[in-house]
Parts: sequence; C-alpha cells; structure tokens
Amino acid sequence: MGEIEFFDEGALVSVLTTEPLGRALDYRVPEGGCFTGAFVEVPLGPRRVMGVVWGKGEGGYDLSKVRPVTRVLDAAPMGEAMRSFLIRAADYTLTPMPAMLRLATRAPGLADPPGPRRVYRKGWSEPDRMTEARGRVLDVLDEYGGAAFTLGELAGLAGVSTSVVKGLVKQGAVAEEEAPRDLPYPHLDPDLPGKELAEDQAAAAAQLRAGIAAVRYGTTLLKGVTGSGKTEVYLEAVAECLRQRRQALVLLPEIALTAEFLTRVQDRFGAMPGEWHSGVTQTERRRLWRMAGEGGVGLVVGARSALFLPFRDLGLIVVDEEHDTSYKQEDGALYNARDMAVLRASLCDAQVVLASATPCLESWANAEAGKYQRIDLTSRFGMAEMPDLSSIDMRAETLEPNRWIGPTLVKAVTARIERGEQALLFLNRRGYAPVTICRACGHQIGCDHCDARMVEHRFLKRLVCHQCGETKPMPAACPSCQAEDRLAPVGPGVERLAEEVAERFPEARVAVLSSDLFGSARALKEKIGEIAGGGADIIIGTQLVAKGHNFPLLTLVGVIDADLGLQGSDLRAAERTFQLMRQVSGRAGRGEKPGEAMLQTYQPDHAVIRAILSGDEEAFWRAEAAERQAAGMPPYGRLAGIVLSSPDVQAVFDFGAELARRDAPLRRIGAQVFGPAPAPVARVRGRHRVRLLVKVAKGVALQPALAEWVGQLKVPNNLRLSIDIDPQSFY
Ligand code: ADP
Ligand code: ZN
Repeated sequence: MGEIEFFDEGALVSVLTTEPLGRALDYRVPEGGCFTGAFVEVPLGPRRVMGVVWGKGEGGYDLSKVRPVTRVLDAAPMGEAMRSFLIRAADYTLTPMPAMLRLATRAPGLADPPGPRRVYRKGWSEPDRMTEARGRVLDVLDEYGGAAFTLGELAGLAGVSTSVVKGLVKQGAVAEEEAPRDLPYPHLDPDLPGKELAEDQAAAAAQLRAGIAAVRYGTTLLKGVTGSGKTEVYLEAVAECLRQRRQALVLLPEIALTAEFLTRVQDRFGAMPGEWHSGVTQTERRRLWRMAGEGGVGLVVGARSALFLPFRDLGLIVVDEEHDTSYKQEDGALYNARDMAVLRASLCDAQVVLASATPCLESWANAEAGKYQRIDLTSRFGMAEMPDLSSIDMRAETLEPNRWIGPTLVKAVTARIERGEQALLFLNRRGYAPVTICRACGHQIGCDHCDARMVEHRFLKRLVCHQCGETKPMPAACPSCQAEDRLAPVGPGVERLAEEVAERFPEARVAVLSSDLFGSARALKEKIGEIAGGGADIIIGTQLVAKGHNFPLLTLVGVIDADLGLQGSDLRAAERTFQLMRQVSGRAGRGEKPGEAMLQTYQPDHAVIRAILSGDEEAFWRAEAAERQAAGMPPYGRLAGIVLSSPDVQAVFDFGAELARRDAPLRRIGAQVFGPAPAPVARVRGRHRVRLLVKVAKGVALQPALAEWVGQLKVPNNLRLSIDIDPQSFY
C-alpha cells in the first residue's frame, strides 16, 4: 500500500473504479490537485463513473490519450487503512476489487454536488381531504420518524407521483425546506451516568475498556446467557472509545431489533447514533457515509454492510449475536461480517467484541486457542434465572392425526394461561404446511424452477417456493393426475399450528410471529411491542422470535419439534440446533417470574438434545470440536465451495468435471477436491447447480491456489461460477 501523496494538476494517477474492467485506469489530475484515496468521477467511454485515486499512474503507453479526471468529489479521501482493508478482503474472498469498491460506496448521490437542497418532512397541519395516496405519504413520514426526504425519495417510498407530495405541501401537511446537506450527527456523551453494573459486569467492562485504551488490535469473545447484560457491558466499551474520540460500530443481525437498541443508546449517551441498514432512507445513507469519512459520527449501528463504511478512525467493532447466520452475505460478494470485522480491526488498531449467548464453534475455538480473549457472564441480571429445561418424549405421547401439541405441553400451556402468563410455541417452519400431496396419485407439488417443494401459505392464499420466492395459487385439481379436491397438506407450519391452538385453547389470544406475515419492519416491531405489553396469551413463532426480543410475561417455551434440524447432512446442523434451542428457551423467564422450556422430541437420547438439557455447554463444544478436528473440518481445516450454475445441465457438469481434472494447483498445496456433485438444491430459478468442495489443512495459502485453479478455464457465457470461502451452509 502506497503512502498518502498529493498529486498536482496534470499528474498521472491510477484510478480504481466500480466497473468490472480487470484493472485500474490512468487519468490526469484536474485543477486543484488531489490526494491518494480521493473519490473522483472519471470518464469511461461515453459515461462517467465513480472511482478512487489508488496511487501514481502506470504510464508506459501513449500519454497523449490519457483523459483527465472529471472532478474530485467533495468527500473525505479514503484512508490508507480502508484501502488495505478492501485489498485484503478482496484477496480473502477472491472478490474482484471493483466489486469491493461497490460495497464501500453503497450510498446513492455521492457524486451530487454539495450545497443546500430542498427536503421534505412532516408538516404541521392535516390535509383538508384524505385520499389513499396522501395517506401513504403521511404513513412514510410517520414510519421514518423525523427524517427528511428528497421529493423523489418521498414520492418513491410512498408509491405516489410527486404532485401528490406537492399538494400536501400546499396544505401544510408536508413541510418543504432548504436544508444544508449532510450535517454531522449529534454528539454522544460518554460521561452521562450509565446503569450501575453488577460485579461481574463491571469486571468485564473494565477489561474491555483496557483494550480500547491500549489503542491496539484485539478480539474478545463476550459470552453470556441472554439477559446477562452483554449489551450494558459493551456499551461501556463504546463509551471508552468515544472518550478517545475514535469511532465505534455496533453490528446487529436484524433490523427489527434496531429500535430497541437505539433507545438504549439514547438513554446511555443522550443522543441517537447513526443508523445503517436497508430500512434507512437514501438521504440518511448518504449523510452517514460522508460523516463516517469525516468523523462527523461517533457511533454507527448497522447491518453487516456497515463494515464497509469509510470510517475515519474506527476504534471498536461490536458484532452482537455473532453466531447469527445473517452475517454471512450469500449474494454477490461472499463474505462473513464477523471475520471481516476482525480483519478490519486488525488493520486500524481497533478492538473487536463478539457478543453471544451461543457463539459459533469458530469463535469458541479461537478463544480456546488463545487468539481471542474470552469473558463470561454467567448469571442473568436481577431476578431472571435461566429457565428449567426438560424434554418431552413424543414416543410416549398420544397424538391424534394432524395434531402436534402433545398432552403434556397442552397441560403446561393451560396452566400458564390460567395464571395470566404467556406461552411461546416454537416451530421453525413458515407457512401452513411444508408439503402438499395428491391423495389420488401421491404427487407432491413442486416449484417449476427449483428442486424444491412448494409450501402452502394460507394467509397469502398461495403456494410459495422458499427457494426462489415463486408463488402460484393453490390448484383445484392435481397438476399430475387432474383428480379434483384430493390435494392435502402434510406436516405443520406455524399457520397450521395456529389452527390447532385455536381449537385447543379457544379462549386464548394468539399471536403468530413469522416474517412473511408482516408487510414491514415497522408492523413487526409494533406487534412485538404489543405482545411484550401482554397483548397475547400464546405466541406462535418461527426463528424470528429466537432473536433478542424481550417478553417479560413469557414463562413457558414449548418447542414443537426439537428434532427438526438434527437431520440433514449439514456440517453445522448440530451447532445450529444447539444455538437455536438455547436461544428460544432463553426467551422464557426474562422478567421477574422464572421460566420453563419444554422440548418435544422423538430422540431424547440424541447427543445434541442431551447437551441442551444438561446445560453443559462446554461439554457440547468440546465434543463438537473433537468431531470436526477428527474430520479435518472447519475450524480445524479449511473449506471452499465452488458453485457452478447454468440452464444447461450437461454444460455445467462438463465444466465441473474439467475443473476437477485440472486440479494440479490444488494438489500442490495438498488440497483435495470433491465433486462435481449436484448441489443440495440442484436447481434454482431454472439454473442447474453443481458444486465442488475443496478441503485443505489449516494454515495453507488456499486463495492463490484457488485463483490459479479456476483461472485455467474460461467460464462460458451462460455459466456462472462463484467461490465461497469458509462456506456456512452447503447450498
Ligand atoms: P444481553 O445483551 O446479555 O441479553 P442486556 O444487556 O440486554 O443483556 O440486559 C438484559 C436486561 O437487563 C436489560 O433490560 C438491561 O437493561 C438489564 N440490565 C442488565 N444489566 C443491568 C444493570 N447493571 N443495571 C440495570 N439493568 C441492567
Ligand atoms: Zn422455486
């Protein structure tokens, strides 16, 4: 990585653009000069594209042909640590640099000239006449709180024409103002009094503060049962970071959680942090992007992509719920935000805090090996205790056909309702029924484009493919044998479970929490708030409820099918089941009353079920680690997945076989290649998918060998090749 240099007008600079050109291009510096890292707009053919000055130009060709940089953008130049981070992340994930730069510039309007602009906010009066379109505009204004929008943005979000907004302006229902662009965020005060910490919390906070004060890289695994106060503790690390006038980033796995978290930040530091996720307006995104670079924001709370903001001086990255699978980006650039956080921090003398009640095996092993520090919070704060866990042996329960709640669980739920407490029934399956079968011919309705069965969603009145999202109406006749009225649902989803609950507990107020039942993050948030306030007796939920929502009245969790997820050949099946079950059971007894969790299972002697019940987590991790070590699997060995896809099944297998044959670059590093084999989901959106798996010992330089290996063959036009380093799932 080169030094920071100033280039005078006319100098030759090399510019990395977001266009897939395969290399950086040379341009001439315009009037005023620029620094290394400057964001610029450059001509490319007939277009203008965005880029970053990467260093001195290469030269060595007809210099009279070099075009000038169109203009230098009014944004803080990209710092050296950020440039190193993009390079290292590109090398690690084998992602081309332009794609990396696109990740780092995901804020629309960066190239717009500065100066005030017209923005729109909530006005002071009601419109004389309410129409549906006007209502939508006002809804958007409400949904985003006090945010300001550009005209196009507001109209776009509301799905109305700009004249509707203008009409509302005339009525005073929407306020129009000239606003300076991109103001800094309000100052967060680290010295406001925080909560008084319990002894173990205070010790943990002191250790994290010491790491920050040392101004060097380090990673700490902060492990603590749900409710033990991990958030309180890492907010103290944030405070220390702010005291040092460095920036802090808190990554959260899910948008629905942000509101609760923002309130806690406001309580602790007296103002709101910057927010970065898909629900943030484009105007705010642009502001945050710029302020990150200028140092005009102290704390950013965001989704995984916030890791690619151009922070000026990042001192702390917290990855909350670090085991969460949403940290792995599975589209476009394949990166794991947890690993990238560690990489980024190591390049800018920052600390990383990985917080979780159920860390992933990788982090557990890194702490065991001494690479990460580890802090344990073992007790829940205040009264709340870990729930009592027990299993219900379903082999001994009598169930009528198409029923899934056994008599033992029914009794337990009834008791809670009578006491005015809440019960949660957990089933990690969206929709009404996972399979629809024809009772005349046995045909199962599948997706036309994927190797997947369609899932009936009664709420939506459609069949949905959970693979590609394709939907179709439920047919009246079997698509295979044309028999009428013979299609029947098989197995339960949460919607069907809700029917059973309605029949068994006719008096109870029931709430179903499943991501597809809510139109927006806001609707979901509202529902969660309503439930927390006692608005339901029985909650039926999917995986969605496992994440940190607080339901103080909840004292019973019933897991309908604890075995779901134990089957399957996924490397992480056991780990995932363990995490999910522990988190779901951790939902009970978060208030004053102790909780209880019951797991319905047909395999009460399964090692994972036993580990969950015994609460001996370390034993579970050790056993799981030993198994992976013996098999040379991650984190004790390394894997890379190559997925090839094409509409042409023959072409994709031929290409895969040819790759497998030319494995010399891999053999040189002692790696093995498995496949080509049909991917577990062998067809998605009409494309056939084939996968190869590369396995190698830890500590071997895998990426250069992989690059050389796949670089031997030209990828045909209609074929796609993607490389997934450290694959999380075996898609
Ligand atoms: P975790 O992040 O481990 O799930 P939290 O930090 O969210 O735990 O704490 C759980 C609940 O207990 C929160 O409502 C939090 O405000 C409260 N809490 C934790 N520690 C304290 C403390 N020292 N003083 C007061 N309340 C606390
Ligand atoms: Zn499909």
